[in-house]
Amino acid sequence: MKTIEELFNDEILEMMKTEITQAYGNEVLFLGWLDESGMVCKVEPVARGNDECVSFPYEWGMKCHVVIHNHPDGQLSPSGADISIASTLAQWGIGFYIVDNSLSNVYVAVEPVLQKSILAVDVDGLVKLVSEGGKLSQLLDGFEERSGQKEMIRMVSESLNTGSPALIEAGTGIGKSMGYLLPSVSWALKNNKRVVISTATINLQEQLIRKDIPLVKKLLEVDFDYVLMKGRQNYICLRKVEELKKELFTFFDEEDIDQFNLLAEWALKTDDGSLTDLGFIPKSSVWDAVCSETITCLGNKCEFYGRCFFNRVKQKAAKSTLIVTNHHYLIADSSLPPGTGLLPPYQYLVLDEAHKIEDSATSYYTTQIDRYYLIRVLRRFYFKKKREGGFLLYLLKAIPEEERETIDELIDMTVALYGEIQSTFDTIDVFVKDLLHVEKREAELCESVVHGKLLELKEENLNMDEWNRVVLRALLSIRAGFDRLVGFLEKIKSKINKNEFLIRQIDGYCARFSDISSVLSSLVSIEDRSFVRWVEYKDKSVFYMAMVDVSEVLKETIFRRVKNYILTSATLTVENNFSFIERRIGIENEVMECIFPSPFDYKSQMKIFIPTDAPDPENQAYIQQHAEMIYRFIMLTGGGAFILFTSYKTLNGVVSLIRDKIEERGIRVLVQGERPRYNLLEDFKEDIHSVLMGTESFWEGVDVPGHTLRSVIISKLPFKVPSDPVIKARMDKIASEFGNPFIDYLLPLAVVKMKQGIGRLIRNRRDRGIITILDSRIIRKSYGKVFLNSLPPAELVVDSFENLIKEFNFF
Ligand code: SF4
Repeated sequence: MKTIEELFNDEILEMMKTEITQAYGNEVLFLGWLDESGMVCKVEPVARGNDECVSFPYEWGMKCHVVIHNHPDGQLSPSGADISIASTLAQWGIGFYIVDNSLSNVYVAVEPVLQKSILAVDVDGLVKLVSEGGKLSQLLDGFEERSGQKEMIRMVSESLNTGSPALIEAGTGIGKSMGYLLPSVSWALKNNKRVVISTATINLQEQLIRKDIPLVKKLLEVDFDYVLMKGRQNYICLRKVEELKKELFTFFDEEDIDQFNLLAEWALKTDDGSLTDLGFIPKSSVWDAVCSETITCLGNKCEFYGRCFFNRVKQKAAKSTLIVTNHHYLIADSSLPPGTGLLPPYQYLVLDEAHKIEDSATSYYTTQIDRYYLIRVLRRFYFKKKREGGFLLYLLKAIPEEERETIDELIDMTVALYGEIQSTFDTIDVFVKDLLHVEKREAELCESVVHGKLLELKEENLNMDEWNRVVLRALLSIRAGFDRLVGFLEKIKSKINKNEFLIRQIDGYCARFSDISSVLSSLVSIEDRSFVRWVEYKDKSVFYMAMVDVSEVLKETIFRRVKNYILTSATLTVENNFSFIERRIGIENEVMECIFPSPFDYKSQMKIFIPTDAPDPENQAYIQQHAEMIYRFIMLTGGGAFILFTSYKTLNGVVSLIRDKIEERGIRVLVQGERPRYNLLEDFKEDIHSVLMGTESFWEGVDVPGHTLRSVIISKLPFKVPSDPVIKARMDKIASEFGNPFIDYLLPLAVVKMKQGIGRLIRNRRDRGIITILDSRIIRKSYGKVFLNSLPPAELVVDSFENLIKEFNFF
């Protein structure tokens, strides 16, 4: 083993000594960087502990070559915790050294892997592939050279070659997936690295897996492994299926049993074993019982290990050059300590549809709890209705005779907990209704039917005495009920130490109950302002808790953890500036930034109409006048239109006023919410005269090329409702930091959304169409110029509604 002098120079040792002295001789954790000869040439102290241990934030370790800490007692043997950290770091090629306080000795627990110099990709060669006469032109029908794509290949290559992160806005039609796939694959293969590509939508993942990556293989004439990684709970667990076949009584009713039997049959035939391959959406009560979970998995002790669907994907991922996944799964995986996640170690990341990463993180860090959820969890555990069933009966059969009394006690506790949940939520319902002054009918008719009525849970909104007496006490009592179940289950576990499967099942219930307990605790801690909490009243009360600012967690768990990242989307900028997205998601490094405009000729392909006399939403006759304008624009194009709304109230109001009139003219009206989104889109694509009226989910991720979609009507500038608790909490936070919540948040958010909405119209060089913005604030208000500056370079016609109608001669 090398001596300390062979690994550290004097200057570094001196600096470390000073740090340890200043920490009163306690443990100090240093990150270290090596020079080419392997000597530590730079250190950074990042944590200080006591004389026995120091906390270790894994994310920091990912950036350095070696992690170093001192053992104050002078004993250099690694502790159990040291070995566990060292073995995790080893997966990333990061070394682990232990030194004594006098810095005279060093113990090398793990040798660092010295980074070989990066081999640059042949950028010109890649660009040639997608140029006129290049290989892509031979493989692709209707090939058109796109200069933006070539520039993007150059920029992604530079980012990978130099290790500088990049933000790239790539306009529609650039061919951005090829723009990052070609350099990423080429670079990864050359340098023996792995790249993870994360997207927001399933559509894009499917496109990458089925079309783009196979095309990259042909273009580069190389073979490499790639895989689509979905969350573990998307896969069926064969072991659970086998066990449950013998224990059908654990299911709640005949419908659940029938569905389980279907799943069991399918599990024998499917190659993929994931929900996508299933062909129907199973009830959550059934799928929860059979899906793969970390806590209940027996790993390589499982007799189904060789056939296990999830493990097969995991093994494939371990040898894959490219892993395609989604933002939600990426965030879930990143929230686990390194080495314990489900994705194999990776250091290079491409985020496509990167403008959605804040939403994905918000959704991941949002918790929802109501009586139905709690009862559903308990029902798998134990129920007694027409008959008795659930896991406890299964457990009853499996434990020694003398322990059965404990199960009886558990049954009694569970029954009591059912009662407590029902009565507590009955009381809470009355309390919440009273606070909101809501009658049920009113709740159904209120502004946003989807959101119901809500109350933000913070001290200034509540009578704290009443809150503590009614809600806090009741929720904490439910929490205590779940804690008691965990305590009992832990006791029972020690009696059945031979049955590994059962033990894992018990662990699974303990984990679920403990999660509920900690969510209930956090829910009532209303003084913690890093989360926003609210209760919504639809038919019953539903509690929510969401993280206010996800930038820190994204920075720590993703951007600081990887060696390099590339973020791309068609809409990352506001007025050609990336600072909004950077602020929102915690990007603080020096990053390369570039906008590659769409290759489409917007001047000839698109017109943008803005009626100067569009009705004012404050006006009483707004819906009536608004609906009339929409109707007349629909008649001008003979259908073929998306009408994008920002609220269900306006959508429903407009539909009720003009639907019949439109349909009388032979134009079919498709309305969001009336049928599944996919079916609405398919019908729209097939019927060239139909119109589709929708809110939120139709503003983005929808691709309808051709004449079928020739008009997009933006009903209103898509500002988020400031009364949405998460939006409001974010605005309050910005205000508390002396920012301007409107300018710094609401406005840019709306601009990005508008760009997405407009982006639905022109999908290829042959498409032509009209954008109509029925919100005159875009020309009346001073902030309107931010929207106007972000429009595509199409012909802009701003005139009275009647003049615009006269002007209409586009098709
Ligand atoms: S290995 Fe785990 S997930 Fe796979 S079948 Fe076995 S228990 Fe289920």
